[in-house]
Amino acid sequence: MREITKLQSAVDKAYQNFRHDNSGANADYIPFLAQIDSQLCALSIVTVQGDVITAGDTQYRFALESISKVCTLALALEDYDANTIQEKIGATPTGLPFNSVMALELHGEKPLSPLVNAGAMSAASIIKAQSIEERWQRILAIQQKLGSKDIYLSDELNQSEQTTNFHNRGIAWLLYSAGYLYCDTMEACDVYTRQCSTLVTTVELATMGATIASGGKNPITQEQVLKPDNCTRILAEMTMEGMYDSSGDWAYTVGLPSKSGVGGGILTIIPGVMAIAAFSPPLDTVGNSVRGQKMITSVAKELDYNLYKCI
Ligand code: GLN
Repeated sequence: MREITKLQSAVDKAYQNFRHDNSGANADYIPFLAQIDSQLCALSIVTVQGDVITAGDTQYRFALESISKVCTLALALEDYDANTIQEKIGATPTGLPFNSVMALELHGEKPLSPLVNAGAMSAASIIKAQSIEERWQRILAIQQKLGSKDIYLSDELNQSEQTTNFHNRGIAWLLYSAGYLYCDTMEACDVYTRQCSTLVTTVELATMGATIASGGKNPITQEQVLKPDNCTRILAEMTMEGMYDSSGDWAYTVGLPSKSGVGGGILTIIPGVMAIAAFSPPLDTVGNSVRGQKMITSVAKELDYNLYKCI
């Protein structure tokens, strides 16, 4: 079978098998997310050659949420270097929920991972910028360069998050108290909240992943966005913390670096080959899209991809 036909049939099969799975529930601690149609479902692949394969609601724009942490980490690595980010934020999983205060308390308020809320605010705060607007524009620009120039901030979602993000504000002050925030405290929280409030399609999300999969070169625009070595670091972080506190189970069962968001998106990367992006709003108790996990697991098994496969 031709390669593209094989990819399309794996995507179609996964989409058809799981689009009607009704387990899980939309995130409801962000009012905007609670009212999204739970039946929405989409699955896309973008290869490092720039081939695009899709099924389902692939035109629908959903909230990037935590997957934005990958983009901001990428920019922080470009602005500094891997050792500085490890020292100033951390590079190890917390084993606790993405918004855990206990994880901070246990480690002298060091966030440990740039892929939990605390580490992501720390990463947003370390980006080189003279003003809040410059900080925000640089973070939006990296999302657009990795994914697509059409990615934009939803004012409605941003409002919904900015007026309910009191827990994150608490985390930001704890970080500040221990010296792990590198700009004004509420500036870091505000910009982090905005970076979560952009809207993407699964094709744009898969393009972000394909850019990382190819060592930093966007396969659609051909722009070299990231240094190849930084992509290696990002993939390690995604493996360790990308699926929150079920990252270990995900590595054990699927074995591919991934990042999820409470908007229902999941991005999975097969280094050097392609990225798979899934979207469907209902989440499991950890915060990962239920249909998304099932569809990606199905595609990975069907195409026989697992980073830890020996023969
Ligand atoms: N904006 C959300 C928050 O800060 C993102 C969390 C997520 O997707 N896990 O809680």
